Amino acid sequence: DYFMINKEKFTNKKQSKIAKKIFSVAPSDDKTNKYIEECLHKKHFSIKEIDRGNQEIKFDRIYNLACPASPPAYQKEPISTILTCTQGLYNMLELAKYCGARLLQTSTSEVYGDPDISPQPEDYRGNVNCFGKRACYDEGKRCAEALCYEYSKLTHLTGIEGVRIARIFNTYGRNMRPDDGRVLTNIICQALNNEPITIYGDGKQTRSFCYVSDTVNGLIKLMESNVLTPVNIGNPEEYTIIEMAEMIKKLTKSKSYIIYKDLPQDDHREKCLDLHQCHDLSRHDNRRKYDASGYHHRPCRNRNGQRKLSDLQKYLELTP
Ligand code: UDP
Repeated sequence: DYFMINKEKFTNKKQSKIAKKIFSVAPSDDKTNKYIEECLHKKHFSIKEIDRGNQEIKFDRIYNLACPASPPAYQKEPISTILTCTQGLYNMLELAKYCGARLLQTSTSEVYGDPDISPQPEDYRGNVNCFGKRACYDEGKRCAEALCYEYSKLTHLTGIEGVRIARIFNTYGRNMRPDDGRVLTNIICQALNNEPITIYGDGKQTRSFCYVSDTVNGLIKLMESNVLTPVNIGNPEEYTIIEMAEMIKKLTKSKSYIIYKDLPQDDHREKCLDLHQCHDLSRHDNRRKYDASGYHHRPCRNRNGQRKLSDLQKYLELTP
C-alpha cells in the first residue's frame, strides 16, 4: 500500500518559479516498476517510497496524468483503465484533501465522444457510447470529471485547495513509443520503414494535434489560474487523417503507399477544439502574444511544426 515517486526538476526558468519539484505518483505494480527501471539512469530522476498516511509528505499541486490514452493500450486493459480513471483519481483527490493541495485532472476530448458539432466547446455534452470498446476510457474520464465536480463543491469542507480540469485533445512529441498504436506514431514508423501506411475507414475523419510542450504549458497555466470549469487544451488546426499521412510521407520522403482498413468501433468522425474558454487563461497576460489556446502554440503545418515533426522522426530513427 505505497506509492513510488519520481522527482523531476524543471530547468526552464519560467516554469521553475511555479514548481520546483514534480512528483509523479504511481502504484507499485510490475508495469510501473519496469518503467521506473528504464528511467533510473536519467538525470533528475529519483525514487522515494511512501506510505499513504506519511505525515511528512506534503504536496501543494498534484497533476493527475494517469491512464493510458492510446486506444489499443487502454482497450487491452479496460478494467484497469476504468479503475485508474475513478479509483486512482479518488486516491489522488483524497491525497489533495489531506495535503490541502490543488489538483489538476487531465481529462480528454473523448468526453465529447463522436461529436455532433464541431468545433467542440466545453459546454457541449457529448455523444458517447457507454456500452462499447471506447467506453472504458470515455466514460471513465466522464466519471472522473463528475468526481472532481463533487470534490470541488466540498472545497471548504475538505481542505482541498481546488480542482482544475483540462480536456486534452490529441498531443504528439518526442519520446512517444513507436508501438504506441496511435495514428501519428503508426504513420511515422510506417513511412520511415517504407511500409504500407494504414488508414482506418476512409481517412476523412479529422483530428487536431498539439505539440507536447505547448500542452504542458497550457496545463501549468490552467493549474495556476482561477478557472474552475473544464478547459479544452490543444491545437485548433484540424486535419483529415489522409492529409496527415500525406504530410508525413513528404517529410520523410517515404515510398510507402496507403492501405485502407476497417474503421474501429465508435471511432470519432471529427475532433477539433473550441478555444474560447482557454483564451480567458491568457487574457491578462500581455508580456507575450498568446493565441487563443492560452499559450503560444505552434501549428504543425508551419515551419516550426515541421521542425517538431522531424524531431520526432529523428527520435524514431534512433529507436530500434
Ligand atoms: N488511425 C488510422 N491509422 C492508424 C491509427 C489510427 O487511420 O494506424 C485513425 C483512427 O481510426 C482515428 C484517428 O486515426 O480515426 C486517430 O486515432 P488515434 O488512435 O491516434 O487517437 P484517437 O483520437 O482516436 O483517440
